[in-house]
Amino acid sequence: DVTDIGDTMSNSISQQGSDDIAFHMHPYTNAITHASQGPLVITRGDGIYVEDENGKKYIEAMAGLWSVAVGFSEQRLVDAAMRQMQTLPFYHLFTHKTHEAAVRFAKTLIDLAPVPMSKVFFTNSGSEANDTVMKLLWYRSNALGQPNKKKLIARHKGYHGVTIASASLTGLPGNHKGFDLPIERVLHTTCPHYWREGKDGETEEDFATRMAADLEALIQKEGPDTIAAFFAEPVMGAGGVIVPPKTYWEKIQAVLNKYDVLLVADEVICGFGRTGKMFASETYDIKPDVMVLSKQISSSYQPLSAILLNSRMFDPIADESNKLGVLGHGFTAGGHPVAVAVGQENVNIIRERNLVQNAAVTGAHLQQRLAGLSDHPLVGEVRGVGLIAGLELVTDKAAKTALASPGQLGTAVGRKLQELGVITRNIGDTLAFCPPLIINAEQVDTLVDAVTQALDATQQSLRS
Ligand code: PMP
Repeated sequence: DVTDIGDTMSNSISQQGSDDIAFHMHPYTNAITHASQGPLVITRGDGIYVEDENGKKYIEAMAGLWSVAVGFSEQRLVDAAMRQMQTLPFYHLFTHKTHEAAVRFAKTLIDLAPVPMSKVFFTNSGSEANDTVMKLLWYRSNALGQPNKKKLIARHKGYHGVTIASASLTGLPGNHKGFDLPIERVLHTTCPHYWREGKDGETEEDFATRMAADLEALIQKEGPDTIAAFFAEPVMGAGGVIVPPKTYWEKIQAVLNKYDVLLVADEVICGFGRTGKMFASETYDIKPDVMVLSKQISSSYQPLSAILLNSRMFDPIADESNKLGVLGHGFTAGGHPVAVAVGQENVNIIRERNLVQNAAVTGAHLQQRLAGLSDHPLVGEVRGVGLIAGLELVTDKAAKTALASPGQLGTAVGRKLQELGVITRNIGDTLAFCPPLIINAEQVDTLVDAVTQALDATQQSLRS
């Protein structure tokens, strides 16, 4: 389901490329095609641009992996890392130890949170964070004397990571097939993609009602007392940039409240301004019990993730750790001083430079320019909010279908775009856009002009 553009468009493979083929196993890559085509070697970054080993410059329209909010050459983050390295390059947070960088950033995150949160727990990646949340939910249910309340519900096409537990939450076949996943206790409910899943004559609001009814039916079928939590991205990212239909979140939250099911907002992509508010939970009036943050938390200059827990979640966990003697969980590098120092400086920059506001304003321009492509024969749906967007490609608009082989059209347009100097990502036949939050209107225009050119060129070659 998640298809990357595995193409370098280069006939000659450099020494670095052949060493990469020889010695390096890649994530999310077809190892066999990689061996023949080699990698795209990226050597440097500047603002919204990256450059390859041949000096070719690209607009990084995915901000790396939905993550480099402040762009690729932010000296202040380098300085923050250096300062921390020189003062205290490492310390841990186990057994009552702490350090200033972690304390300061924990306070920053609690202050920023859109709902009252009690504590922050630091981890290193989105997957690790979701994995930890699952464990903490089980621990909490045990603490509350509800040992059967352990099942977790996520959604088809949701993305929550790749560890055994978080990949189970992920609702994409590509993350399950071949891995013997998902594990027990993880269930999936319907994907709220109105354009694709809505029935004839069904309004967006009626569709949202049906999605909430699907969730309620699943909870009832499994037994309400057995469901611990619902995990969801406010806007689905890696599943194809799926924006919730009108009234969806209000209706979903009513069901969760009715059955005492906790809500985990996976804001790994949405957090820190992406949707035009600091958190998408504000954009959609979501009141999560747990928030999972990563990626733009440090602009990915350092690996970092954070879990924000409200008191409903934290208090029973605290009691249980007291009963058992200690919380038997924690990662060596969790809350690494360099990572949290970079995170803090990154949040300072996002606020000082009004990047959240930029995501709203320049984001509206991006959405409007992309919406202008709706009439293009290859465009099925344009969707998005703030500075995240998806362009679903089709060859038959009425049937909403693309070429016979899924992902082929998306790959073709994505490859053309790469030739034109734009790195995007095709998720099947959906092109995703998630540029750095520092992008300006003129750069958006250059980007969308390239998209138009790539669509026209692909249309032309399909005709011939
Ligand atoms: N949750 C969401 C919403 C994500 O988009 C991702 C990564 N794309 C993850 C979790 C997993 O993060 P990581 O790759 O850092 O493990």
